[in-house]
Amino acid sequence: MDVYDITIIGGGPTGLFGSFYAGLRGLKTKVIDVLAEMGGQLTALYPEKYVYDVAGHPKILAKDLAKNLATQAQLFKQTICLGEKVTRMDRMEDGVWKITTDRSEEHYTKTVLLALGAGACVPKKLDVEYPTELEGQNIFYAVKNKELFNGKDVLIIGGGDSAVDWANEFSQFAKVTLIHRRDQFRAVQTSVEEMKRNAVDIKTFYELKQVVGNGKVESCVIFDNRSGKEEQIKCDAILINIGFVINLDFLKSWGLHMEGNAIAVNEKMETNLPGVYAAGDICSHPAKLKLIATGASEAATGVNFAAVFINPTAKAFPGHSSNLNLSI
Ligand SMILES: Cc1cc2nc3c(=O)[nH]c(=O)nc-3n(C[C@H](O)[C@H](O)[C@H](O)COP(=O)(O)OP(=O)(O)OC[C@H]3O[C@@H](n4cnc5c(N)ncnc54)[C@H](O)[C@@H]3O)c2cc1C
Repeated sequence: MDVYDITIIGGGPTGLFGSFYAGLRGLKTKVIDVLAEMGGQLTALYPEKYVYDVAGHPKILAKDLAKNLATQAQLFKQTICLGEKVTRMDRMEDGVWKITTDRSEEHYTKTVLLALGAGACVPKKLDVEYPTELEGQNIFYAVKNKELFNGKDVLIIGGGDSAVDWANEFSQFAKVTLIHRRDQFRAVQTSVEEMKRNAVDIKTFYELKQVVGNGKVESCVIFDNRSGKEEQIKCDAILINIGFVINLDFLKSWGLHMEGNAIAVNEKMETNLPGVYAAGDICSHPAKLKLIATGASEAATGVNFAAVFINPTAKAFPGHSSNLNLSI
């Protein structure tokens, strides 16, 4: 049985930074993520957006930040397992955790850092039928490549930050219609105001009824949900940003104490389970801010206290990395 010191579940920014810190502490480290690539929300949801509030980076594309984090996460040759969804965690008699995944793989570890974010990022789907092969071709749930929308008639569906931010950005190089089923937007007010100033055709109280086209999207039928009045609009790309399916009930079955949809932690990022820590968007504490910066700090805290859990004579403070001489 190959027992790791720490296994980090989730290869988003939090888990990746945790992996780096675990390497720094000399811990034998494994990272498991259900997605095929590392980066969590940065790569799955907004790879083409700029992020401005990460220390040391005045402006960086989310996908470039993810790439840097992935490089840093593997500096100490940590083991990375992608495309594996963790389904169970059981504590064995000797205190070692057995982690089971949907690949029927078993992983053994002395400690665990749960960096699950909002769980597996599964976008909410529309209740409208369309040929599934159009997904990724004309119908999108995330923007992986902005070029695919260049010069197109784009229909954006949603009223949150993602929908509104993309409407603003796409209005620079595409003809954009945004439909939202209410007249209140969840997006930040300044972005909504900007959208009203931009060349975006905003239709509130509108929903999608039908996608029209043969082997591709050619137009859409939308309707006013107050009157039922239908309208057919030309469009050749649809971006659906109506949120995510969040189901974290399985965490309770692992024996974790939850606060709403998040794992309760103390100031050391300890959960109620021995040797199990949580960090990033998945964890809850009184001063919680769901940001990349806070996830990084929490990951560093969790991993350093995990090092003390493994070796109670060790110090939590890792020392200064500037004292090291890493050949990178
Ligand atoms: C559009 C948008 C813009 C944003 N802009 C900013 C910004 O400018 N600045 C900022 O600080 N924050 C921003 N955020 C928030 C930021 O992205 C999150 O706070 C951050 O990604 C949280 O990191 P995380 O690693 O905790 O979780 P995530 O990034 O969600 O990563 C969690 C990982 O865990 C994996 N996972 C989940 N369940 C399992 C399982 N059972 N088995 C295996 N793997 C699993 C997931 O696949 C995922 O890769 C933005 C978010 C969005 C949606």
